[in-house]
Amino acid sequence: MDKLINNDGFYGEFGGAYIPEMLYPNVKELQDNYIQIIESEDFAKEYKELLKNYVGRPTPLYYAKRLSEKYNTKIFLKREDLTHTGAHKINNTIGQILLAEKLGKKRIIAETGAGQHGVATATVCALKGLQCTVYMGEIDIKRQAPNVARMKMLGAEVIPASSGSRTLKDAVNEAIRAWINEPEDTYYLIGSVVGPHPYPDMVARLQAIISEEMKMQLKEQTGKENPNNIIACVGGGSNAAGAFFHYIKDKDVKLIAVEAAGKGINSGETAATTQIGTTGILHGSKTLLMQDEYGQVTEPYSISAGLDYPGIGPVHAYLFKDKRADFLNATDKEALDAAFELTELEGIIPALESAHALAALKKLNLKENETTIINLSGRGDKDLETYIKLL
Ligand SMILES: *Cc1c(COP(=O)(O)O)cnc(C)c1O
Repeated sequence: MDKLINNDGFYGEFGGAYIPEMLYPNVKELQDNYIQIIESEDFAKEYKELLKNYVGRPTPLYYAKRLSEKYNTKIFLKREDLTHTGAHKINNTIGQILLAEKLGKKRIIAETGAGQHGVATATVCALKGLQCTVYMGEIDIKRQAPNVARMKMLGAEVIPASSGSRTLKDAVNEAIRAWINEPEDTYYLIGSVVGPHPYPDMVARLQAIISEEMKMQLKEQTGKENPNNIIACVGGGSNAAGAFFHYIKDKDVKLIAVEAAGKGINSGETAATTQIGTTGILHGSKTLLMQDEYGQVTEPYSISAGLDYPGIGPVHAYLFKDKRADFLNATDKEALDAAFELTELEGIIPALESAHALAALKKLNLKENETTIINLSGRGDKDLETYIKLL
């Protein structure tokens, strides 16, 4: 996947760095240094050590026997839900906090929608004793009280974004404003394969550990490192990027991304960007996003907070246009059904986001001798309030 990007940070027509001039030195500093730092022995050693002993990697690749029987095929689950803090997001925040340290940054800023990335960022700031400020929409702060409490307990300052629709995109604006005001010693820690170059490539590289492990684990369990299919949900697209990374060049592996359809693609309440989105600039990169006729970003909707994002990362816009990946979508209802099905059959309560990936099983008509890996991006504890209403 790192081979798909050119020197200016474009995947085909998507990507790049569309940023205010004031941020240019910071972004340039990152562009000039990220690969060298990530590939240095020093960094690799500490990153791997923390992933092993702090995050709990490698995460298991689990053969889901009863789920496989139900669909009359072979299904493996990559258990990102078993990581520290309960989702893949920590792979990225661990990597970026080490990078921020190497660049000599003293203060970390981040934006968060549902609070998951805010928690993952506050966690690694506590781990490293760095000051942490998280911008969050005023409405999201009300909706996501437990995550706000977690961030505060972890020592982060949570600053409400009270402009616009008071949700994620306004939090992004506030974070960028804060970055402009104090560019020198501040590091902006982005939570998905979005934002100006080099963030999409950097985050993909930091999540690539997922497919690196898949290859070894599948080989160990089945004798072959390539499955027929890999399925992952897409919000911004970081868990999917990590799950696809080392398989991009293996054309025999079908890559399947699942977006959140919300209440239906044409309901006006959706987050299925590839289905209704058009090309534009979002969070500093050229990509597919949901916008109105005036180019204003439209408010996305999904029952799952992590998929409730108005765009997708440029790498996914490219994989979609290039047809290297298939883009499916699942409604709230389909995801809820899939979450209950996995719980009943395997004793695993998935995150609502991951449940969208599971919902693809009903749409795929998989064959008996086909092997499929589903990236189980997170655990469902955070979604119990939603699930419990259906019991
Ligand atoms: C945040 C989140 C997602 C969506 O983010 P991506 O960058 O698309 O991976 C998916 N699953 C879980 C559990 C999350 O917390």
